Amino acid sequence: MQSTFWGSHGRAVCLLIMVSLGLSSGLGYTTERVVLVIIDGLRYSEGMGDATHAQVPNMAALAEQGALVGDFQNDGFTYTSRAVPAIWCGAWTEMNTFNDPFCNGTANSSSELPSVFEYYRKQLDKPAEDCVYTLKNLCSWKASLDPDYGMDYWPLYHEAGATDTDVWHETEQVISGLAPHFLLMYLADVDSRGHSGNWDDYLNAISIADSLVGELWNTLLADTAYAGKTTMLVTNDHGRHDYDFTGHGDGCLGCRHIQLLAIGPDIQSGLVSEIPRTIPDIAPTIGELLGFTTEDATGTAMLELLNPTAGTEKPEGGITPSSIALERLYPTPFNSELSIEYELEESHQASIRIFNLRGEQVWTSDLASDGPGVHTLKWNGRDQNQNELASGIFIVQLSNQHLSHSQKVILLK
Ligand SMILES: [Zn+2]
Ligand SMILES: [Zn+2]
Repeated sequence: MQSTFWGSHGRAVCLLIMVSLGLSSGLGYTTERVVLVIIDGLRYSEGMGDATHAQVPNMAALAEQGALVGDFQNDGFTYTSRAVPAIWCGAWTEMNTFNDPFCNGTANSSSELPSVFEYYRKQLDKPAEDCVYTLKNLCSWKASLDPDYGMDYWPLYHEAGATDTDVWHETEQVISGLAPHFLLMYLADVDSRGHSGNWDDYLNAISIADSLVGELWNTLLADTAYAGKTTMLVTNDHGRHDYDFTGHGDGCLGCRHIQLLAIGPDIQSGLVSEIPRTIPDIAPTIGELLGFTTEDATGTAMLELLNPTAGTEKPEGGITPSSIALERLYPTPFNSELSIEYELEESHQASIRIFNLRGEQVWTSDLASDGPGVHTLKWNGRDQNQNELASGIFIVQLSNQHLSHSQKVILLK
């Protein structure tokens, strides 16, 4: 497992496990569709960071039903042409110039690394109409030309209109007409209003973007294709300077601190997560929910935002499986020994498996000799060969033939 140091601005540097793959698919999330919204250049202090939420009442209300990452940052380039591709790719990617056939053959940029669109479409065999990127009428930067992915798996770029409100109306048509399982709506006006230097225009653009996010969520709730099975993520590519709202692009906290709001059936309600996260974590989180891997991503899925019961497999219809339950994991975080308390109804064919965030099994124990009842198993935080594992998040899974229950634990060295 690779690890790297993460930190910025003299704040506490913390050890974060950087892994490239989400968990394997099929863990049974309720989420079937994901909608991602990017609001360009919204500084946190005028958004969710303003305690009165004056410009963002809709997003503040959504955050109460969903989850917010308290410390979400752009940890790379704080400008759009690099940060938006980092959101799609789950990594800070180079951008290459190419002659874009969808842009009259003019020079354009494509990402070096594959994007979330390409992972989604190729791995799940989805048509472009099921993966739509709505934005205003401009020749957008394109996804990758990676030989394993590339143009055959690009999203349907739906470019129309000139304002965020236009983009929303187009998005509304896309939702009712195509009902894609993956939709990205990109709102550009907050950044351009900020650059214009008019403070009131900038605040007004934030209020408009906020009300469009509210309308979007209400539209999803009213649409039978989306209601109850859609997760929405709302983020920014970058903020704006602490010292000058008209610009951005350096490493000041105003440029770095941005928003990650998540709401949906698998997302915890009312959570403000304390675990610091960054832009590359978005694409792996989408992959985790929809069941594809983001193999070139450097970020990791934000499992801490999910309901503890999310991601557990449901029994197949018609079978009455013998019950198993993961009762308790303690302490968490743990340092030297984790106690895993579980209950079995029958004594055969159950096992405990522990995975890292790459989805690799690091340890397993067969529970065949346990009778019915409650048992406690100890795990010493080492792999099967008794090698020490690095600090990080691990998934403890109790399963039998038909059922599987998972919980996250944190190993802190
Ligand atoms: Zn800008
Ligand atoms: Zn700045």
